[in-house]
Amino acid sequence: KTSFWTKICCYLTLVTLTGMRGLSNYCLSCCVNSLLQTFSATWEIAVYNINKGDARNVALHLKRVLEAMRGDLPQLAPHRDFLHCLDQNRFRRKINVQHDADEVFLSILNLIHQQMDNRVLAGEIQDLYKISVETHLQCLKCNSIQTETSYMLSFPLYVKEDDNSLEGCMNSFFEHQELKGINSCFCAHCGTKNSSRQGVKLLSLPRILCMNLKRFRNSRGSTHKLDCRVSFPETFDFSQSLQHVFSCRYTLYAVVVHSGYAMCGHYTAYVRHRENERWYYADDSYVQRNASLFSFFFFCCSRTAYMLMYRRDSEEWRPRPELSG
Ligand SMILES: [Zn+2]
Repeated sequence: KTSFWTKICCYLTLVTLTGMRGLSNYCLSCCVNSLLQTFSATWEIAVYNINKGDARNVALHLKRVLEAMRGDLPQLAPHRDFLHCLDQNRFRRKINVQHDADEVFLSILNLIHQQMDNRVLAGEIQDLYKISVETHLQCLKCNSIQTETSYMLSFPLYVKEDDNSLEGCMNSFFEHQELKGINSCFCAHCGTKNSSRQGVKLLSLPRILCMNLKRFRNSRGSTHKLDCRVSFPETFDFSQSLQHVFSCRYTLYAVVVHSGYAMCGHYTAYVRHRENERWYYADDSYVQRNASLFSFFFFCCSRTAYMLMYRRDSEEWRPRPELSG
């Protein structure tokens, strides 16, 4: 029988050796576990000073779990309170059910934004991820154009049933689309629903660029997954591929991986260590150092990249000093 202290010592050794802390799986928490590893690698989130809030406050519990994951103090389940906090928000509505990592990610960010008393800080955290776009809708009957600006916190990129590249997926996102039939849009000028042409233009990109490779498709009441390969680069320049005026070079620092089928799968994560810049692989409590990111995807096709997180290069970043929770 292993004593409590032996367990703690083993745990401590594991953390020091790998430089990263694994998280045990509670009732299919692999999705939240993987997201926590990516939040932990998003060090911008952890520097904010948030110390107020109740048991339902997501920002406070995220801050605490990230501190515990980085700290040297032994804690057998640093994420238990965070999972409990999500349950308090009726967020993992059904326990023991697989959740969609991108939906959980967006819900965490939205709850942080809704619940924070400090609105400036809430805005600052959202700005880290905010992709601003302008949508043009041209009525094909009168040619008038309606323009609307909006934002997204992750880029929805639809994967095709074929070999894909990240650049190809992004170019399709910005391609003009004809909206006809049931998809026709209301034209204020004509006063009727008409066929329209829709185009999306990028206005600004955030520091942390999260891309969601949309692989799950619903048809006739069931969901299936597209396992096809999507090649993605470690560094990426928006100014080249999308002909935008601003130069934006990004470097990959985290990947959420989905393996298995749509309805019963498993989430794991790759993250790049901030200091030694090595890739780590986290599969719940198991952590592998010096993980080879690209060979992994090459040799096993049922393990697929699901979310990609890039960070903008060449800029000093620090939170505004007056901001605290
Ligand atoms: Zn019109």
